[in-house]
Amino acid sequence: MTATGVHLEGVTKSFGAVDVIGGVDMQIGKGEFAVFVGPSGCGKSTLLRMIAGLEDTTSGSIHIGARDVTHEDPAKREVAMVFQSYALYPHLSVFENMAFSLRLARRPRKEVEEKVNRAAGILQLTDHLHKKPAQLSGGQRQRVAIGRAIVRAPEVFLFDEPLSNLDAELRVQMRLELARLHKALGTTMIYVTHDQVEAMTLADKIFVLKSGMVQQAGAPLDLYDDPVNRFVAGFIGSPG
Ligand code: ADP
Ligand code: MG
Repeated sequence: MTATGVHLEGVTKSFGAVDVIGGVDMQIGKGEFAVFVGPSGCGKSTLLRMIAGLEDTTSGSIHIGARDVTHEDPAKREVAMVFQSYALYPHLSVFENMAFSLRLARRPRKEVEEKVNRAAGILQLTDHLHKKPAQLSGGQRQRVAIGRAIVRAPEVFLFDEPLSNLDAELRVQMRLELARLHKALGTTMIYVTHDQVEAMTLADKIFVLKSGMVQQAGAPLDLYDDPVNRFVAGFIGSPG
């Protein structure tokens, strides 16, 4: 898998007369774990969906690596998205759930087996490949959803609050697994959360968003030590 940076320049988004994203510039480095953090409704999912190509931009540009993908079909972008509700196919085995996109793309059987087995190894799902989703725990199901993204070997992973449906204990465990996954794959990851602890522990770089604008971007400790305003301070949690 190759890692690629993501660059946003002057990106805006309006739904009808409502401006939801108001001129966002972002530089996310190759292999970086970027986290978008901010209150509900600030535009985190909309930004992620624009990067994935699931939503048009109103203006501005998005580059993945050197490629301008602003008007590119989502299927052509080298990104894979993992959602909060990880709708797995209930009638298919774990193996077939992970193989699904490769089968759609008519990849050879041997390649499908190799890729699914490798992803299963990384996610500790090897012993569960024959099971149906209903036989798995919540954490295991979320790992299958991540496995479906891994087999596509994307240049960029997009996560939209992937842990928010899990209980607190499992969230801590999955957080460690995501950190391990990032280390193992070395892929650029963009991760959306409204959970400060998740942001602080996972991120190389945090983007704090408010009302569709980036308030501050930087390494977790820089934001913690040097917040530009009360909003960032309140969100990142430094006492000063
Ligand atoms: P977040 O993920 O940070 O909670 P969203 O990106 O989902 O925020 O939403 C940002 C704003 O855009 C919200 O006010 C939301 O109501 C609005 N919004 C999102 N999607 C649509 C849509 N398809 N049509 C109209 N408004 C939308
Ligand atoms: Mg959201």
